[in-house]
Amino acid sequence: MSQLPLRQQVSLQSCNTLAIDACARYLLEVTEPGQIPAAVAFAKQQQLPLLVLGGGSNVVLSRDFPGVVLRMALRGIDVIDTGHDDIVLDVAAGENWHQLVEYCLQQGCHGLENLALIPGTAGAAPIQNIGAYGVELESLLESVSGWDIAAGEWRTLSAAECRFGYRDSIFKGELRDRFIITAIRLRLKRSFQPQLHYRALADYLQQAGIAQPTPQQLVQAVIDVRRSKLPDPALTPNAGSFFKNPVVSAEQYAELVERFPQLVSFPQPDGGYKLAAGWLLEQAGWKGAQRGAVGVHDRQSLVLVNRDGGSGTELLALAEAIRQDVRERFGVELEIEPRVY
Ligand code: FAD
Ligand code: NAP
Repeated sequence: MSQLPLRQQVSLQSCNTLAIDACARYLLEVTEPGQIPAAVAFAKQQQLPLLVLGGGSNVVLSRDFPGVVLRMALRGIDVIDTGHDDIVLDVAAGENWHQLVEYCLQQGCHGLENLALIPGTAGAAPIQNIGAYGVELESLLESVSGWDIAAGEWRTLSAAECRFGYRDSIFKGELRDRFIITAIRLRLKRSFQPQLHYRALADYLQQAGIAQPTPQQLVQAVIDVRRSKLPDPALTPNAGSFFKNPVVSAEQYAELVERFPQLVSFPQPDGGYKLAAGWLLEQAGWKGAQRGAVGVHDRQSLVLVNRDGGSGTELLALAEAIRQDVRERFGVELEIEPRVY
């Protein structure tokens, strides 16, 4: 048995925001980067799979996990003032994302305002290149550091090397399950340039009579708008958007918009169109649907909820029924956003 403070047969119910009661064979709270190579070696020696968890807000646990769960609890934020408009922050992987946004606000570092109230940890943010209200992490991220499992070495990847895309990165592709992020480096600004092109934010500010929001007002607007639509995982377990917004070709878009003139879509730089998956689900009548213990949120149909101790299997069955229905009605393929284990 390893010298690591591993716990055995641990319920993960409080470690995932869907509150799925799966059990981990081993769990390690990672409080020192040095524990990571030792834990990886232990798993390899015992031929056990590894699962890295931050806040568990973007995972679906479909069964008990038969290996080692590493729960990232690394802490620390270092601010490096460049003396110019840029401010560089080194943030440990276990830092809570929303608390980081608030910290930056207090320190007068700008850029993260639209990403307020996203659950989870800083270390998970690059995995799907978190985004909200027109701002994506990639525009603020300088590099990602961590342990490369296959190479057996510490490594730092530049933002370009992370190959960020829409809710996508190298950590979901080539480096999937191969890289344990220990820290991220952000480059923020002293000057404040609010991003207000999402209608929900613009409408909120207009109604509040705010023409030029302060950073605090913008963060508050994001918090209020999110709270008005999204269920709080502490009260109604969920994993945020369960499906990515699909991007279709110009040809498919033209066909769809002829059949559904109200289609909610956004042109993409490559000529394709991003469709609002929530609109597709709502049109198909899924908003507020209930299937046993699990269902679809009644204010935001993209969010599947676990209302009554449902399992990952039940949630995935509901997701599959929705995918099939959307495929048949619209000819559009939906992709599940959270990682399924
Ligand atoms: P986890 O769920 O713990 O992990 C997610 C994935 O990342 C897993 O594959 C895990 O293995 C991997 N991972 C986690 N940490 C590490 C690490 N240190 N090293 C390597 N791999 C790691 N997302 C958005 O993009 N925009 C939103 O606006 C948004 N809103 C949300 C609202 C709600 C109510 C909820 C519940 C979720 C929302 N999400 C959103 C999704 C989620 O919050 C983000 O994806 C978040 O970054 C996940 O962080 P986490 O720490 O909970 O990751
Ligand atoms: P919303 O504002 O009702 O908009 C619906 C969809 O339309 C969004 O998914 C958004 O795409 C897209 N959209 C709206 N305005 C746009 C614009 N000006 N340009 C391009 N696309 C536009 O969405 P919401 O559900 O309330 O969520 C608000 C924001 O928080 C969104 O950015 C959303 O991605 C984010 N969010 C993400 C999660 C998650 O788990 N991933 C959960 C909750 C909220 P995008 O999704 O591409 O932005």
